Amino acid sequence: MRVPYVFNIQRFSVHDGPGLRTAIFFKGCPLRCPWCHNPESQAFEPELMTSPDGASELVGRQYSIDELVAEAERDVMFYDQSGGGVTFTGGEAMAQDVGYLAALARRLRSRGISVGVDTCGVAASAAFTRMAEQTDFFLYDLKFIDAAQHRALTGASNALVLKNLELLNSLEAVIYLRMILLDGLNTGWDVIEDTMLWLKTHGIKLAGVNLLPYHRFGMDKFARLGREPVEFRTPSPETTHKIQQQVARFYECVTIGG
Ligand code: SF4
Repeated sequence: MRVPYVFNIQRFSVHDGPGLRTAIFFKGCPLRCPWCHNPESQAFEPELMTSPDGASELVGRQYSIDELVAEAERDVMFYDQSGGGVTFTGGEAMAQDVGYLAALARRLRSRGISVGVDTCGVAASAAFTRMAEQTDFFLYDLKFIDAAQHRALTGASNALVLKNLELLNSLEAVIYLRMILLDGLNTGWDVIEDTMLWLKTHGIKLAGVNLLPYHRFGMDKFARLGREPVEFRTPSPETTHKIQQQVARFYECVTIGG
């Protein structure tokens, strides 16, 4: 079993699924999105990043399953009160050793702690099949319905993203779809319509759709890693609201943020 690196553990998160959650940020991602909020999550190995006060810090360390379970158990009372739990995120949680992930999820759930997985969908289908048995819900990113655009902007085609979404749907997993909105790139009426029609044509059932307007939080971190930041445009509130109305024709449970 390969023990993954973790670059952050965030308690009391309200953005990683229902209720108050402990988000475990695994290090390593197969994609290279230039708008990534956590570019220090992209490499699988530890790396140096300059801190905001100018010091050099090593990002990423390994945790045993016992350590992560102990960390999560600190907040059981808050999970119970809020309907929360633990979310595996990153980076790309599903690109980590699936034996480790499944064992961690099993341990948490045996203690009555809900487990969610945040994923970009680019991971082995066998890993999704295995994790679906140990996961209460998936936060599933769909960035671009167009394969060429997906490849151009993330570094990989969306073929596996769509295949694994269909797979999780066939396994009756609880899926919250997350759509980052990059103004002018995936916010047009026709792009949203194509996305919704693909989902409906393939019978995808969703517990919710979260629209996530781009923000520039990751730019500073790119610079602190010695990489060139790229700025995108945030859609206006009017554009985002129109997209919400458009999506609601297909899936009523659509919210901005999440
Ligand atoms: S999929 Fe997520 S973690 Fe990976 S590079 Fe893109 S935004 Fe960053």
